[in-house]
Amino acid sequence: MSAGSKITPEEKAKLPEDPRKLLVELLSGKYPELRPVFDPVKGCRYPEVEEVLGDSEEVSSLLEKLTAEGLLARKLFGKHPTCPHCHSPNVGTLALCPRCKSYDIEKKILLEHFKCGHIDTEDRYRTEGKLVCPKCKTPLDPAGKDSRKVGIWFVCHACKRKFDEPYSPHQCRSCGRQFTIRDAELKECYSYTLGGTAEVRKVVGVISSVRSFLESSNYKVESPGIVKGSSGVDHRFDILAVRGENEKLVVEIVQEKETVGEQPIITMFAKVYDLGRISSVLIALPRLSHTASQLAAMYKITVIEAGDSEEAVTKLKTILQKA
Ligand SMILES: [Zn+2]
Ligand SMILES: [Zn+2]
Ligand SMILES: [Zn+2]
Repeated sequence: MSAGSKITPEEKAKLPEDPRKLLVELLSGKYPELRPVFDPVKGCRYPEVEEVLGDSEEVSSLLEKLTAEGLLARKLFGKHPTCPHCHSPNVGTLALCPRCKSYDIEKKILLEHFKCGHIDTEDRYRTEGKLVCPKCKTPLDPAGKDSRKVGIWFVCHACKRKFDEPYSPHQCRSCGRQFTIRDAELKECYSYTLGGTAEVRKVVGVISSVRSFLESSNYKVESPGIVKGSSGVDHRFDILAVRGENEKLVVEIVQEKETVGEQPIITMFAKVYDLGRISSVLIALPRLSHTASQLAAMYKITVIEAGDSEEAVTKLKTILQKA
């Protein structure tokens, strides 16, 4: 997207088919925010986007691309330590003896029983899976309300050392290498919402509203829709609506800050001319320039000038009723 606040037809045409679909889904309120879920193999995944686009390996890069274009806005959602060697996000945390690095360590808890004042290690309280005071033989409250932990430490069975904190490096479950948090890569996960300028939102909003309206009028709608012309060239429209055997309608949406000029009229004429008998509507946001109006009349192109989605749909309804 250029720095300006408008979206030119060239820029609009450059948007790949699927992102348009994604944006329409987003704005239609189905997914007001795309939140990542953590997948140990793939890292951040976006199930809703995969649902819209089909299972896609490139969802993350697509979301980044749309963010760079200003169509999406992202927000930091979380950071995950990632293996610095193979970049896998499938990372676990180990608990090792800080001296000999053995896995064979045991956590020791010193418990005080309030009722009798007895203090002992937790394993001395443990009988048949329950905690019972070895001195006064009272079973301890499972919620821990009648006792407290007065100390926690670890013992290494390999080298017999006692210590307060184990050595806790990360271990990559993919390549098996160990690394500390200082060496780990921190990979960001983002959530996404519809970004962009008010103008971008408006174009997407109009597509979404017109689409819903046509669907409720029993049209089968594709957005964008591709129609092959008699020249053999594929023509792309923001919306292609089909009803019954041969009732076909194509809709293009063009937006300019002040007035839409002649170029979209010429393009629309060329495309529709190649299609033969097919209904077509150009929605100009907010209106056509004077010359563009004259040109549209000359080419007999049906134009809707609309300030917003509601106006566009109301005018389209009137046009379709007349037809
Ligand atoms: Zn690794
Ligand atoms: Zn040890
Ligand atoms: Zn006791």
